Amino acid sequence: MTKYDVIVVGLGAVGGAATYHLAKSGAKVLGIDRFSPPHKQGSSHGDTRITRAAIGEGVEYSELALRSHTLWRDMEALTGETLFRRNGCLTISGADAVVMHDVDAFFVNVDTAAKRFAIPTRTFEDAAAIKTRYPQFAVQPGDKAILDEDAGVLYVERCITATLELATQAGAQLLRDTQVLQIEPSGSGVAVATGDNQRFTADRVLIAAGAWLPQFVAAELSRHFTVTRQVLYWFEIKSNPERFRPENCPVFIWQLPRRNGVESSIYGFPLEGDAGNGLKVTHEESGPATDPDQVDRNVDPVTETARTYRTYIEPFLPDLGPRAVRTATCLYTRVDRSRFVIDHDPRSERVLFASPCSGHGFKHSAALGEALAEQLTLGQSQHVDLTPFRLERLKEYLRA
Ligand SMILES: Cc1cc2nc3c(=O)[nH]c(=O)nc-3n(C[C@H](O)[C@H](O)[C@H](O)COP(=O)(O)OP(=O)(O)OC[C@H]3O[C@@H](n4cnc5c(N)ncnc54)[C@H](O)[C@@H]3O)c2cc1C
Repeated sequence: MTKYDVIVVGLGAVGGAATYHLAKSGAKVLGIDRFSPPHKQGSSHGDTRITRAAIGEGVEYSELALRSHTLWRDMEALTGETLFRRNGCLTISGADAVVMHDVDAFFVNVDTAAKRFAIPTRTFEDAAAIKTRYPQFAVQPGDKAILDEDAGVLYVERCITATLELATQAGAQLLRDTQVLQIEPSGSGVAVATGDNQRFTADRVLIAAGAWLPQFVAAELSRHFTVTRQVLYWFEIKSNPERFRPENCPVFIWQLPRRNGVESSIYGFPLEGDAGNGLKVTHEESGPATDPDQVDRNVDPVTETARTYRTYIEPFLPDLGPRAVRTATCLYTRVDRSRFVIDHDPRSERVLFASPCSGHGFKHSAALGEALAEQLTLGQSQHVDLTPFRLERLKEYLRA
C-alpha cells in the first residue's frame, strides 16, 4: 500500500489550497472529498465572496488576507482565470452599531488594521458624504463609512477549480466522491478509512472538512463548533441598475442600526453581468444549529424571502424589489467570537485540523493552505503566523 506524506480530508477552500501547496513543495499528497468540489453542499459556493485587507475581525487576520491576495494573483497568472476583482469594500456603521461577526469594535479594527499595514482607505465621516458617492445606500444620520481599497470580489467556485487544477498539475492525487469515515493515528502514522472500503496511510493528516469537521475531532473540541444554515439572496433591481455596476458599487458590509437592542448586519456585492441577474445581498442568521447532512435546502418565500426583504433590504437599498431572482443555502461553522481554529488534534500531533469558516474564512484560504502545507512539511508556517488561531488562544477568547 502507498504511504503518503500527507492525506488531506476535504478539498474545499482550505483543504484544496493546502493540497496544492503540499504538492508544490514535493510532498506525496492525497486529497479526498466526499463530493466533487466545487459543490453546493458545504461553505464554498454561491458565485462570490468578499475579500478585504483591513480586517475588522482582528488585526491578526490582515497578513493572511494580504498574502492571499498575492497568491490569488499568482494563480490567475498560472491559469488565465479571473479570480479576484479589486473594487473595494465599504464598511458602513451606525453610531450605535459596533458588533459584527461577534467582534466588538469591528469598525475601529478596520481603521487600526489599515494604519498598521498601510492599506489604502477612504473615510466618509457622515451620511451626507456616503450618500453623495453611493446614492444606492439609504444611510441614516450618524452613519459613517470606510472604504478599504485593497478589497473586492473573489469568484468562489473558480478559485476552487483553479486551486484543484494546479494541485493536480503539481502532482497531488485527488479522490472525489469518496467519504472519509475514520482517521486513526498511531505511533507510526495515520490510517484513513473511506466509505468504499479503501484504506490509506500517511505520516500526517490534515482535516479541512468544513461543516463536517466537528465529527472528526474530540468531544472536548467539537462542542465549541456550531453549524448554521445561511441563505443567499439575489434580489431584483427595480430602479437605477447603474448604481450597482462594479465601478459604482464596491462590496459592502453594513452594521445596521440596533433594533430592540439587537445588532444585525447585511453584506452585498456589485452587480454581475445583466441587471436581470439581481443583486446578491443578504444578512447573517445566528441559528439554530443544524446537521450538515440534514439541511433544508428550500428557501421559504414568506418566512424567509419576504421577511428578509422587509427587514433588511427595503429600508436600506430602496432600488431593490421584493422578488428574489435566485436563492441558495450555505453553511457557517461557527466558533465563539468567530475565531478560526487551527491546531493539532489534542489526541495526536500527526493530525492537524483547520476550521476557518465563521463567515469570513474564504478570503484567507489561499494563505492558510500555504501556511498549513509549510507547517506539515517544515514544522512551522513561514509566510504567515498561525499561532493566533491555536486552541490555547481560543480558550483565552472563551474566558474573555
Ligand atoms: C453564506 C456564506 C457567506 C460567506 N461569505 C464570506 C465572505 O464574503 N468572505 C469570506 O472570506 N468568507 C465568507 N464565508 C466563509 C467561507 O466561505 C468559508 O470560511 C470557507 O468557504 C470554508 O472553507 P472550508 O474549506 O473550511 O470548507 P468547505 O469549502 O466547505 O470544504 C470542506 C470540504 O470537506 C469535505 N468533506 C466533509 N466531510 C468529509 C468527509 N467525511 N470525507 C471527505 N470529505 C469531506 C466537503 O465535501 C467539502 O468539500 C461565507 C460562508 C457562507 C456559508
